[in-house]
Amino acid sequence: MMPKFLINEAAKEDEDSISGIWNSPCSVVPEKCFSMRKKGKLERTYSQKEQLAFQGVPYLNANDEQSTEVNFGCSEEDAKVRKLILVCVHGNETCGLTAVNELIQVGWFQHQNELLKVKKERVKIILANPRAVLEKKRFVDLNLNRIFQPTYIQNNLSEIFASVPTKYELSRLPILTKAIEWCDYLIDIHSTSAMTPPFVICPSDDKSELFAQTFPVEYMIKDLSKIVQGTTLEWATRLSKIGACVECGFHFDLQSIMVARQVIERFVTDQVVTQAHNIVSCKKSQLIQKGFHFLKKVTAFQDVKFNEVLGEDDNGPISCPFKDGATIIMPTENPIFGEEAWFWGEHKNRIQAQGITSLS
Ligand SMILES: [Zn+2]
Repeated sequence: MMPKFLINEAAKEDEDSISGIWNSPCSVVPEKCFSMRKKGKLERTYSQKEQLAFQGVPYLNANDEQSTEVNFGCSEEDAKVRKLILVCVHGNETCGLTAVNELIQVGWFQHQNELLKVKKERVKIILANPRAVLEKKRFVDLNLNRIFQPTYIQNNLSEIFASVPTKYELSRLPILTKAIEWCDYLIDIHSTSAMTPPFVICPSDDKSELFAQTFPVEYMIKDLSKIVQGTTLEWATRLSKIGACVECGFHFDLQSIMVARQVIERFVTDQVVTQAHNIVSCKKSQLIQKGFHFLKKVTAFQDVKFNEVLGEDDNGPISCPFKDGATIIMPTENPIFGEEAWFWGEHKNRIQAQGITSLS
């Protein structure tokens, strides 16, 4: 019998909504049950009946501190290639978590296990911010994807804890920085607050650009990691790791889970199916200041003209500063003071990706 909460009766016909237990994909199997409406249409439902058991294989579970990391492939001693997948660095971006658990449920990772052992590869997957997942928040105390900075990492954390004992994300930093130090390759899986085509963000080095370009998404954004401080990607770059951050689409779009699955499959197997065709260089962020609001609807990868006004804050109108126009990257749906309203992509640097068919 379908559980009572499966359908959100309150949802209006034309509304996007979710109902049921949203954090359930990371919970124990019997609780895994949610439904989602997109423009009033029920698109996908998990019910207890439809679930496949995890069959004793470890999976990610935000309710259990011991279950925030899983490993596949060869032993640590045998590993020649170490791959790290981070999910839920932002707690309300659960597509990566759902994708990982689904791939475990259907036996995909168990199948890969043998192949990884032959290749002497080890894959580590970490549920980065479990408490924020349980609270269905971007973060609990601090934006985890802004504190990968020497001030937080290299300072004596016990001193910081003593003065501000409630900063939950600081307690996750040592685990995550250790994992980044451990890996050769890293992907960090996110989703966005507004509708957007999936895209990959890469650090500004040739190896990472080639690596990022081979993910099955439409756009690749370069140079963005230079203007946002304290991200996982920035820290990985400091340690000369090859990495990419993948934005799989809108938080509540079920397609984002599919994208996350494809991204994980590509990363673990090294098989390139499709790749990013549009490369946009991003060199400026638009920070949200006091009094910020949009003056028009701004959509992801929309082209805007020089001087076109998009919003305003207490300092006045916010218009496109680029003479050649610009492309809007990652516009926010929920403006948060001090975070980015969007990023400016530069037209003149938009180039077509070169044909890359394999990755060494
Ligand atoms: Zn995010």
